[in-house]
Amino acid sequence: MDQLKDLLKHEIKDLYSAEEQLIEALPKMIEKANNKKLKQALQEHFTITEMQKERLDEVLELLEGKDGETKGFLSGLFKDSKDGEKCKAMEGLITEGEKLMKEDMTPEVSDAAIIAAAQKIEHYEISSYGTARAYAQELNLDDVEALLKETLDEEYQADDVLTEIAEGRVNAKANNGSSSSNGRSNGRSLKTSSPGRSNSSKRGKTSSNGRAKTTTGNKSKTSSSKTKRNTHSKSSSR
Ligand code: ZN
Ligand code: FE
Ligand code: FE
Ligand code: FE
Repeated sequence: MDQLKDLLKHEIKDLYSAEEQLIEALPKMIEKANNKKLKQALQEHFTITEMQKERLDEVLELLEGKDGETKGFLSGLFKDSKDGEKCKAMEGLITEGEKLMKEDMTPEVSDAAIIAAAQKIEHYEISSYGTARAYAQELNLDDVEALLKETLDEEYQADDVLTEIAEGRVNAKANNGSSSSNGRSNGRSLKTSSPGRSNSSKRGKTSSNGRAKTTTGNKSKTSSSKTKRNTHSKSSSR
């Protein structure tokens, strides 16, 4: 009946799988990280990720409680269990990151690679949570929206912290004396955001459709989303 709500449920279950996979993968990244700040940031995000998974449990309860056993048109995509299907995108992002981390790199370049992998993951989450939040808003599911907004803000923050670490030291170090590393990584490509961009609380307003404003080297494209911004005036009130 309510197809947008079915789509929202699908997105939430997909995110649930994504967070679950991340809880598996993050400890390996933490172990591999050399830079102290990076290790600490990943450790903190690991704790937050566990809370995010629980928050999704709450969201699912809210969503399923409201229309009981009703099956949506997308129900075939997932078994009844929320972990019936794996988020293939997160699986791919993690696999790609792990593969890269197995390469023989200096500790500095390895850290740059970890940051790159982690930011791709964060950007995926930002876009998914942003989308889910916009659906909840459209459906007037205020309690669901509030929960999703909390997580969305945390993902933005994690992304910001990674950018700070990368731009602060890791990229520069990775670029020092690594010109002989046959082009595996050149640090500079990991500079994912321009300095002085808006902070996460500002962004919360402008990304109602989940567009990550920090998308790597895509600055010119963000203008195409201008018309979509602020279409949900409610988004600025929380
Ligand atoms: Zn999916
Ligand atoms: Fe997350
Ligand atoms: Fe997914
Ligand atoms: Fe995250």
